[in-house]
Amino acid sequence: MTRHFSTHRIICWRLSRHCNRACPFCLSSSGPRIAHPQKNPFETASRLRELRVEKISYSGGEPFAYPLFPALVDFVRELGLLQLVTTNGDSLCGGIPEWINVFEYVKLSFYGARSTHDRLMGNGNYDQQLSLAGKLKTCHGVTVGANYMLSAESLGEIPEFLDDMVTGGFNDVMFQTYIHNRRAHVDHRFALRDTGGVIADLGRELAAHSDRLPGGMKIHDYSKRDWFIVLDESGRLMLPSSSTDDDFVMGRVTDETVLVEPGTGMPTRSALETIWRRRYETEAIVDLSQTARY
Ligand code: SF4
Repeated sequence: MTRHFSTHRIICWRLSRHCNRACPFCLSSSGPRIAHPQKNPFETASRLRELRVEKISYSGGEPFAYPLFPALVDFVRELGLLQLVTTNGDSLCGGIPEWINVFEYVKLSFYGARSTHDRLMGNGNYDQQLSLAGKLKTCHGVTVGANYMLSAESLGEIPEFLDDMVTGGFNDVMFQTYIHNRRAHVDHRFALRDTGGVIADLGRELAAHSDRLPGGMKIHDYSKRDWFIVLDESGRLMLPSSSTDDDFVMGRVTDETVLVEPGTGMPTRSALETIWRRRYETEAIVDLSQTARY
């Protein structure tokens, strides 16, 4: 499927906090014991279309573990919205569904290069992800990208990781600054000490490598929190924080008016437009390619 580079009306939808894994660094505190939400996702999807959302980026938890996911993806396709998904890949390693090519894009999560990733996700998982990317691309024609968690542990492993992404035929890499999950001992271990400095250095270092991947690279700075809308599993619109501050709750997706910042409310559609405009203009996204706009 052709990549759609121009849209910026995007929502990240954390469908469910259920996940087959229980990573201590998980920003959404997901895990196997958390039940799926009872909320009707089809009504929510229709509401997103009404709010002029053009693209949904599914996350979780693990989206492929959500029982209604296949039906929801089909429903959203019928609504005409673009869809992408971030996954830990475990479910897809057990079998790739035929409908996978509905997605504009599948993002596989990485937490470091081979040694760090395997220490956190299990021996052999890194190569499993590379193999999965190859199958998605060659057998199903799916565009595959990588999400790389930039942490105190993974920062020094980027050159090795990039070589593997190029060899593995990945379209692009999104470097995501570690997002605090407010478990102090975990945050202490993974958090970047100087996020702004790290991004500036990394941007300079990666600029010479951006043309090694067709879709380029981006670095997202989640220490700035006013540009990235998350819809959580209970239907709240939030601007997540990558500091020890609480996430900012805009309101519910069904509300007629929501907040764009403390004390400033506006009709929900206008509020989303405001955040999307910020996203388009923000310096919290360092775009190292000439064309990528997702
Ligand atoms: S695989 Fe991802 S969503 Fe699941 S627990 Fe780990 S970090 Fe959280």
